[in-house]
Amino acid sequence: MLAPPSAGFRRLLPLLKPYRRNLVAGGLCMLVFVGCWPLLAWLAGQLIPAIGAGDFPRVLRVVAQALGVFMVQKVAQFGQDTLLAGPALQVSQDLRRELFARLQRLEFGALEKLSSGDLTYRLTEDADRVGEVIYKTIQDTTPSFLQLVVVFGYMVFLDWQLSMATLLLAPVVAVLVSVFGARVMGAAERSQKQVSELASLLGEAISGLALVRAFAAEAWLQERFEREIDLHRRARYRTQKLLALQFPVVGFLEAAGILTVLLIGSARIQAGGLDSQGFSSYIAALLMLIDPISHLTTNFNEFQQGQASLKRLRGIEAEAVEEPDRPGALPLGPVQGGLSLVGVGFSYAQGQPVLGDLSLEIEPGQVVALVGPSGAGKSTLFSLLLRFNRPSQGRILLDGLNLNDLRAADLRRSLALVPQQSSVFSGTVAETIRFGRPASDQQVRQAAQLANADGFIEALPGSYGARVEERGSNFSGGQLQRLAIARAVLGNPAVLLLDEATSALDAEAEEAVQRGLKQAMAGRTVLVIAHRLATVQEADLILVLDQGRILELGSHDRLMAQGGRYRDLCERQLIRISL
Ligand code: ADP
Repeated sequence: MLAPPSAGFRRLLPLLKPYRRNLVAGGLCMLVFVGCWPLLAWLAGQLIPAIGAGDFPRVLRVVAQALGVFMVQKVAQFGQDTLLAGPALQVSQDLRRELFARLQRLEFGALEKLSSGDLTYRLTEDADRVGEVIYKTIQDTTPSFLQLVVVFGYMVFLDWQLSMATLLLAPVVAVLVSVFGARVMGAAERSQKQVSELASLLGEAISGLALVRAFAAEAWLQERFEREIDLHRRARYRTQKLLALQFPVVGFLEAAGILTVLLIGSARIQAGGLDSQGFSSYIAALLMLIDPISHLTTNFNEFQQGQASLKRLRGIEAEAVEEPDRPGALPLGPVQGGLSLVGVGFSYAQGQPVLGDLSLEIEPGQVVALVGPSGAGKSTLFSLLLRFNRPSQGRILLDGLNLNDLRAADLRRSLALVPQQSSVFSGTVAETIRFGRPASDQQVRQAAQLANADGFIEALPGSYGARVEERGSNFSGGQLQRLAIARAVLGNPAVLLLDEATSALDAEAEEAVQRGLKQAMAGRTVLVIAHRLATVQEADLILVLDQGRILELGSHDRLMAQGGRYRDLCERQLIRISL
């Protein structure tokens, strides 16, 4: 009846270790709780004949004793429930924490593969379901199982022949339950997959609502959504139908079983193998089996559904995580910001080479503009510099130190990214700039001043304490860019990686951002994925990339004079002239 502890759930057991003391105390309470059942069955055996004989004083005595036992039992149950609830809830919290930590370390390739809606579903619904199973297993399944064993043990003690007959019925029920269980699990798995697909579609739909409206594609999206919810309903209905069938079948078998036992019991009394007192106790004990059996059946179904959820959670663990720091990785002291690329080549897993044989020296404080068509490998180069990926060939050196030998956290403190889309987390303005780093208010203000953001922040109601809504929706594009610049310069990084925004701001906002950028770039090595002519013109070095190779390298004037690809890009205005 009890589900075999599946390998999946068994692997959660180590999570329970820290809560051993509570578990032991709760377990003791559980033993008292369960031990009271045979005692109560015995008292029932005393009570029923006494009632039959009209022996009132004896009835009174037995009732008083039973009340006493019930009282002890309920106190023990309270102890069991409160002592075990803590660890059960802690374990599901620990599981969620571990998964989130894992999520933070996943390789970017793996993150791109799993949609955000799907991941959200796994970390909320699936984690909830698994948590519920852990809770039920500790709190309900274990005492129910113990009750079943102890009460049945008492029944064997009363009359083993009758107990064997009772037992013959159990495998029939067990087989039926497990057959249904397997089917419920399959249906549950399909239904959960459907919910996660629904979540993915919803995620896509919500972020793309404006686009949908702009293309007047509402009917198309509505239809797609309706198809999805229909599939979802069908999958849920299949699970419900199976559950609906399971309860009556199991219930009928139980009733038939009890009636059969009554029949055989009366034959045993006739044969003189059992007296009426013993039989009363036996029937009372038998009735005490119904509750745990029904709990175990329900929990078994939830367990099966939980297993499907656990499998999906474990799926996250199967994804590759970022390669950890090399043992003995070097701490990084103050950084000058010199970068060397030596024969750097890179390809994504089993893909075509994206970068090939890049060699380049960048002096501290130089500004290098990366230009080239989309797909040339500019962002990939940034990802190598941030060590999101590692070169497949060659090496990248920061102040002469191979990036692979450094601690990622140190490296990322010396290199700051200003992404193309200024994504921010919700919180206050100061929290947005700090982004989890320890920095005084004064430092936050200085970073904002450098980014030319101080003025507009001071004008906000609440100033640095003003709230930034989800995705920065209450700020303008230019303001968000300046917040992103402030965030980048807060730790005074030696190198700035700047992915210039392609969308044009109005002239005033653009000027404010440019002023911030200019101040932020001063004294730092800057690599900028450039889309503006002014940026490339002012760069010390322009790197024209195409298909992962350096096509041209030099200053604006030199490359214009050379009359190659760069000049072509400028003339065709693929580099935007603004201001
Ligand atoms: P750019 O920034 O110059 O537009 P990218 O560095 O983004 O170019 O992309 C270079 C090439 O690498 C493109 O062909 C792109 O399809 C491929 N690419 C980028 N990211 C991934 C990834 N995570 N997995 C596989 N291929 C990728």
